[in-house]
Amino acid sequence: MNIERIGVIGAGQMGNGIAHVCALAGYNVLLTDVKPEKVEAAFDIIAGNLSRQVARGKITDADKDRTLKNIQPAKSLDAFRDVDLAIEAATEDEKIKKQIFVELCPKLSKKAMIASNTSSISITRLASVTDRPERFIGLHFMNPVPLMQLVELIRGIATEDETFQTVNALVKRLGKTSANSEDFPAFIVNRILLPMINEAVYTLYEGVGTVEAIDTAMRLGANHPMGPLQLADFIGLDTCLSVMQVLYEGLADSKYRPCPLLVKYVEAGWLGQKTKRGFYDYRGEKPVPTR
Ligand code: NAD
Repeated sequence: MNIERIGVIGAGQMGNGIAHVCALAGYNVLLTDVKPEKVEAAFDIIAGNLSRQVARGKITDADKDRTLKNIQPAKSLDAFRDVDLAIEAATEDEKIKKQIFVELCPKLSKKAMIASNTSSISITRLASVTDRPERFIGLHFMNPVPLMQLVELIRGIATEDETFQTVNALVKRLGKTSANSEDFPAFIVNRILLPMINEAVYTLYEGVGTVEAIDTAMRLGANHPMGPLQLADFIGLDTCLSVMQVLYEGLADSKYRPCPLLVKYVEAGWLGQKTKRGFYDYRGEKPVPTR
């Protein structure tokens, strides 16, 4: 199947990145969010990120203009009747995602495919609430989408080969590389990455090191480009907690229990960069550790 029109649901940090790379690759993109102001903000963010790519010589001004013209805001899922592929990038919450799919399916054309950008939730379970589990797949982009090379592809139990091949071809057209993961909690990248981040939060919780010491240790001692707590703030602490809960419940192993300090930050609404406070406070000129 040939994909031309893509609808993106959720205009947060991942949704705006997905709209950006799809539009840059020449697809027509619709972008929607339950909060209309998120769509407006996404257009500014995408324009800013495209300008940065122009400044770095990665794309031309004409590419930037063409990309912005390829993205249209959509007030609701009613606008999705002509899309060939709907990519869901809403909050990492199984109930929210399932509600979206139940509402979405009757609005889509019969042959349209659905992909979820979930970081951890079972593709088979999400697909089971749709009328097309054979045309449903996990398409897991990395953050920030315009910069990161990898996209994980996750087939649910019912995903048909044509769906996989079509979405794999899309990943190639975006200039990205796919890695295939079986449909188990958190797939490959987050199965490995999130327990490390959770362990960094335990290291902080137990007083082994300060925020600064932990991040410096992992940047300079393990040669990671970002410390784990800085990375957690970048991902979003709500998303980190949600992934740990999926691992804990899905694999029924206490080694995945979310650190109580991570829970406390999320309960405080300190979700990292997106709310300007997490393990660092971003409200000033320079990030300042909060512990
Ligand atoms: P985010 O909080 O920045 O954005 C989520 C957006 O979804 C918000 O704008 C919210 O208003 C919107 N939303 C919530 N309910 C909705 C609904 N019913 N309909 C439409 N929109 C709705 O979160 P994010 O970081 O962009 O994460 C989105 C998805 O991408 C999650 O599944 C997450 O696990 C996944 N993901 C995140 C990262 C990361 O590093 N943050 C990386 C890969 C994948």
